[in-house]
Amino acid sequence: MRKKIVAGNWKMNTTVPEGVELAKAVVEKSAQLPENVGLIVAPPFTHLASVASVLKGSKVQLSAQNCADHEKGAYTGEVSVSMLASVGCQWTILGHSERRQYYGETDEKLVEKVKLALAGGLGVILCVGENLDQREAGKHFDVVTDQIKNVLYNFTADDMKKIIVAYEPVWAIGTGKTATAEQAEEIHACIRKVLADKFGAQAADDTTILYGGSCKPSNAKELFAQKDIDGGLIGGAALKADDFIQIALSY
Ligand code: PEP
Repeated sequence: MRKKIVAGNWKMNTTVPEGVELAKAVVEKSAQLPENVGLIVAPPFTHLASVASVLKGSKVQLSAQNCADHEKGAYTGEVSVSMLASVGCQWTILGHSERRQYYGETDEKLVEKVKLALAGGLGVILCVGENLDQREAGKHFDVVTDQIKNVLYNFTADDMKKIIVAYEPVWAIGTGKTATAEQAEEIHACIRKVLADKFGAQAADDTTILYGGSCKPSNAKELFAQKDIDGGLIGGAALKADDFIQIALSY
């Protein structure tokens, strides 16, 4: 049975004290959630150690938003997998569209990062998704299929146990435009099929596939009701503990 997960990507928001307060509120409210729904928060690097202390003993897990593409050494400004693990991170988001768009994150670089993350004991939330031009040109299935193949086909069915996929149509991120439940479901089903072709039906069936893009309390229920949607990667709405938990309660 694959896990239902709701993950909050805080992006470059909140100061450390604000982040600690937000994490405390999420932990407090997480007691309302059913056992089968997992929560992950992904604060900025600077917050990780402090937020890790807040999350200790709770059901909320900790993720980074990115990691370096080298193990260690002369890479000024970068943060390695072992550094993240040493402060208590269990996950890292990789391949978010903002990193692909603004920081030149390519599928090739993502292969290296996923390798390092898994080797260092972190789980990976790998983001994929098409932009508006690609959707309007009817290329969304091809774009997402290629992203999955380019990155994940370098790994094994065993590796997939530590990998979550997040489908995030770029045109829906931070725009208030959500993919309809049908639009999201057809891509999720396609992703699961592409995974099954390489790793087998069981591994594909066990993979958690999240939807991300203007997901909020008012639309989460319909999205999460779809067969292949196993939760959400939440941006803006993850900055309010009430909204974040409300989304998680949509199961
Ligand atoms: C995201 O950036 O991962 C995201 C889903 O953002 P938002 O929910 O704000 O659209």
